[in-house]
This record gives sequence, C-alpha cells and structure tokens, in this order.
Amino acid sequence: MSAQILDGKAQSERIIDQIKLQVDALAAAAKRVPSLAVILVGDDPASSIYVRNKRRACERAGVGSVSHDLPASTTQAELLALIDTLNQDPDVDGILVQMPLPRQIDPETVIESIHPDKDVDGFHPYNIGRLAVRMPTLRSCTPMGVMTLLQSVHDDMRGLNALVVGASNHVGRPMGLELLMAGCTVTTANSQTRNLPVLALQADIVVVAVGKPNLVKGEWIKEGATVADVGINRLPDGRICGDVEFEVARQRAAWITPVPGGVGPMTVASLLQNTLQAHAVHTS
Ligand code: NAP
Repeated sequence: MSAQILDGKAQSERIIDQIKLQVDALAAAAKRVPSLAVILVGDDPASSIYVRNKRRACERAGVGSVSHDLPASTTQAELLALIDTLNQDPDVDGILVQMPLPRQIDPETVIESIHPDKDVDGFHPYNIGRLAVRMPTLRSCTPMGVMTLLQSVHDDMRGLNALVVGASNHVGRPMGLELLMAGCTVTTANSQTRNLPVLALQADIVVVAVGKPNLVKGEWIKEGATVADVGINRLPDGRICGDVEFEVARQRAAWITPVPGGVGPMTVASLLQNTLQAHAVHTS
C-alpha cells in the first residue's frame, strides 16, 4: 500500500478562501473586519518565518493584522503592558504572541494575560479547560488543524484507537482532548513511555508532535492507519522534516501528512478561523 497524501496546504488554502468570502461580505456591508495583533519578540529566524506566514495568510483572507515587533531585550512587564492595551482595544479580535519567547519572559504568564476571548492560539488554560469539558470555544490551532485534516478522510472516528506521541500543553494534550471528543480511544505518549512501537502498531490514527526527526519508525505504523506528523525539524543539510520516518510509513499508512505542507499550513488556517470566531463574539 502507498498512502495518499493528506494535503494540508491545499485544504488550508480552501479554508482561507472561504474566510475571505466571509470577510468580504462584512466589508461589503460596511462592517468592521476581523483584526489580529501579532507580537514577535526578538529575531529568532524560525519564529520570523512563522509570523510572516501568518501575516501573509491574514492578508490573503482580508483579515487585518497589526504587527508588534519587539526587541529581544523586551521585559516581561513591557510585554504584559502591551497585551493589556490590546486586551482593551475593541478593534482587536485576536492576540497572538509567537513562541518561543526570550528567557526573561515566562510564556505561561504571558498566555494567561491574554483575554480568553482574544486567545486565538487557543493556549489559555480557560480555553484548554473548555475543550477538556467538551465545550470548546477557541481551540488550540495545531490540534484543530489536525482534526480538520482527519475529518476530511474519516467520516466517523468513534471507536478508533488514536495514539498521540507528545504531551505538550499546546499540542499533545489538546490533541488528545480533541480526539477524545471525536469518540476515539486515546493514548498519549510522552518521553517516559516504554512501549511506543507496540502502542503505535495498535493505532488507527497516529499524531506525532515531539520534535525529533524519524522518532516514529515507518514499520511501527499499522497497515491502513492515518498518520499526522506535527513535527518540524531542520536537518543539518537545511531540509525540513517531521517526526515520522515518512518514506517507510507511507508504504503502510492509508493517509499521511507530508512535512512541510501538512499540519503547518492547517495551523495557520485554524488561526484565521479562530480570529473570525472571536470577531463574531466581539461584534455580536
Ligand atoms: P515540546 O513542548 O518540546 O513537547 C515535546 C513532547 O514530546 C513532550 O511532551 C515530550 O515528553 C515528548 N517526547 C519527547 N521525547 C519523546 C519520546 N521519545 N517519545 C514520546 N514522546 C516524547 O514540543 P511541542 O511544542 O509540542 O512541539 C512538538 C513538535 O511539533 C516540534 O517539532 C514543533 O516544532 C512542532 N510544531 C509544529 C506545529 C505545526 O504547526 N506544524 C505547531 C507546533 C509545534 P515529556 O512531556 O515527557 O517531556
């Protein structure tokens, strides 16, 4: 079997085009269009690329984006003061703070300082908590994007065995909650998990979010499984790869996301969906 590609780039473009139609309709009705504040602290090259992609997607969708590029020396108090101003600005629907932040700034404090209604990354404990009790509002973008991809090939995920490899606050944990909500039987693996190959071989759906190239071997994938690779790793030769041994895995899987061009663009599409949703709440 050779897997079919779950094309995140194409799906994200379709979503962004749909958002543009909705934004154009607002503009045509002389209504305020959604607006996203994008904060980048420092000049980490990978972060700069992610932020650029997000700003471009906003442009394409007609969503306003206001850039706040701050120096790496920014203090936590300065960043919190900016977020406070944006929280109170009625023209700002979403606030995105690109991670990672410089050492002097505690990311969790920053995330908690964003008003949950403007937390379009879906990282705030309030929003993760709502997902945990099956009342999602603003959902974490990457797991949400993965769910959109999975739902495009699975009409019904109830009863499927799902393995999430990685248990971070912003990806692995909300990913497990999303899959639970879809009715899957979910296992979440972390760095202490002992029998990963055995767990993977039982999984109908495998989502990997660790950040280690080829961590998940192709031969661990169950025949016919669906594989979503969240990992983004830069190899010494400059190429980007995921966490799954792609070429071998694709011989066994039914569906697999490529890296790049899989989950990454879906994360950006989810961010815009969240911004539109936040705008709807703010203007209702
Ligand atoms: P993170 O915060 O570093 O978390 C990594 C997780 O992987 C931790 O829970 C860790 O376990 C677990 N882990 C480490 N080694 C493992 C092993 N051998 N077996 C099983 N689990 C293991 O990373 P993250 O922020 O979740 O990001 C993960 C990857 O996704 C990175 O490559 C990142 O660049 C990428 N990413 C991509 C997107 C996208 O849009 N495509 C978005 C976000 C992140 P412990 O909890 O035990 O430490």
